[in-house]
Amino acid sequence: MEKRADVVIIGGGISGCAAAYYLAKRGVEVVLVEKGEIADEASGRNAGGVRAQARNPVEVPIMLESMKLWENLESELGVDVGFVRGGNLLYVESEEDLAELELGAQMARDSGVDSRVLTPAEARDLVPGLEAPLLGALYSATDGHADPVRSTKAFAMAAREQGVSIYTGCAVLGVETSNGRVSSVNTDLGRVDTPWVVNAAGVWANYMARKVGLHFPVRIVRQSQGQTEPIKTRIRPFVRGPHSGFRQTSEGNIIFTRGYSHARDYDVGREMLDDIRIWIPHLLKHHKLVRFNFGWELVRSFQARTPLLSRIVRPAPLRSGIEPKVNRKAVEKGLAALVRAMPALEGVRVERSWAGLIDLTPDMLPVLDAVPNPQGYILAAGFSGHGFAMGPMTGRLISELIVDGRPSLPLDAFSLSRFASGVKISPPRNFVG
Ligand SMILES: Cc1cc2nc3c(=O)[nH]c(=O)nc-3n(C[C@H](O)[C@H](O)[C@H](O)COP(=O)(O)OP(=O)(O)OC[C@H]3O[C@@H](n4cnc5c(N)ncnc54)[C@H](O)[C@@H]3O)c2cc1C
Repeated sequence: MEKRADVVIIGGGISGCAAAYYLAKRGVEVVLVEKGEIADEASGRNAGGVRAQARNPVEVPIMLESMKLWENLESELGVDVGFVRGGNLLYVESEEDLAELELGAQMARDSGVDSRVLTPAEARDLVPGLEAPLLGALYSATDGHADPVRSTKAFAMAAREQGVSIYTGCAVLGVETSNGRVSSVNTDLGRVDTPWVVNAAGVWANYMARKVGLHFPVRIVRQSQGQTEPIKTRIRPFVRGPHSGFRQTSEGNIIFTRGYSHARDYDVGREMLDDIRIWIPHLLKHHKLVRFNFGWELVRSFQARTPLLSRIVRPAPLRSGIEPKVNRKAVEKGLAALVRAMPALEGVRVERSWAGLIDLTPDMLPVLDAVPNPQGYILAAGFSGHGFAMGPMTGRLISELIVDGRPSLPLDAFSLSRFASGVKISPPRNFVG
């Protein structure tokens, strides 16, 4: 491994790989370190939704720029990333949600997203076979979806071609500082001296951040998904309702998950006690969206926080190849809900199912920040279940923070300092995660 680099990136997900690519394009010497394989975690396990609608307005400028990058990604990276501008359709089945939808449409239009409310008949025209008892839908024709694994690997390959050194199967163990600035990064393969580090470690970013005295409030939840065999009907939009969410891949398979009104799994760990003051109001308000599980995560998280035990057994945040447990019941119910929404799919076979971990912050916004202390440390994490779509622009913004010293879009809403004690955290403004 190199003895020095201009920038070391922790994490080979879409954020890290895109950052590596845009940095290298601007002549920066980058080393990217990934403990497993590229796209092993959230970036390779997500649903592939690429949407600007139903987002907090502060994220929209990033998303609109990201959308321009998605549009040209295939020619930019030289690989088909499966991007389809097929639209995003968010339907509701209750009067209460319909009122929210109207507000969502107004909020989206005010922030420059081309969203409108559709009647049930208009929504059904867009999705052949959709028979869910919907009352209306929010639709943006300019949104779409892409292939998670292909997109992330395409950035990694293009970054390599631009001269980035990528080490997989190699964990970053710690970051050293000197006089308040990042000075080096310790990895399984040795030390790299560097003035800049990008922590794009996904759900493990907080574990890494703590090593330099930083931390942000985050809870890790688990979401299970399934994939059907290919079907003939063509469904262009990414569709999501209260009970079912789905999209069709370019090969014809349907990727499905449960809808926005259903709970995700929360494997309770030691961090349950962290930032409890911040989290209690959220847990009380959204308790129906969380399924608490008490099991091995409790043991693993205590071990990771105990230095002596961590020296004996490698802590989970540094290990690779841990397969998040699939909630089989959630997949079965997800399939049943899919068939209820699309009865023509009755009898369709499920080819595979998997789970992925999501890093939720209390305002459901990421931290995207070159922190003041230590200098040279960029934190890019906490994407709260919608960071794949933002990935290309996240990468470009990171490159701007390092090369230009300031980003082309304001990032104040994503600062780490918004979680400092005494600062009021805004409530989430997204309709769905
Ligand atoms: C089931 C599911 C569905 C989702 N659906 C969508 C969607 O439809 N649309 C959307 O926009 N987003 C979606 N998301 C969210 C999206 O996947 C993430 O926000 C995004 O992929 C985050 O990318 P990342 O690069 O920041 O993190 P990750 O993809 O998690 O990458 C972080 C990488 O860092 C590595 N790493 C961690 N610690 C270390 C270390 N110490 N040393 C070396 N490497 C390390 C990890 O191995 C990992 O590969 C979904 C997520 C899940 C799980």
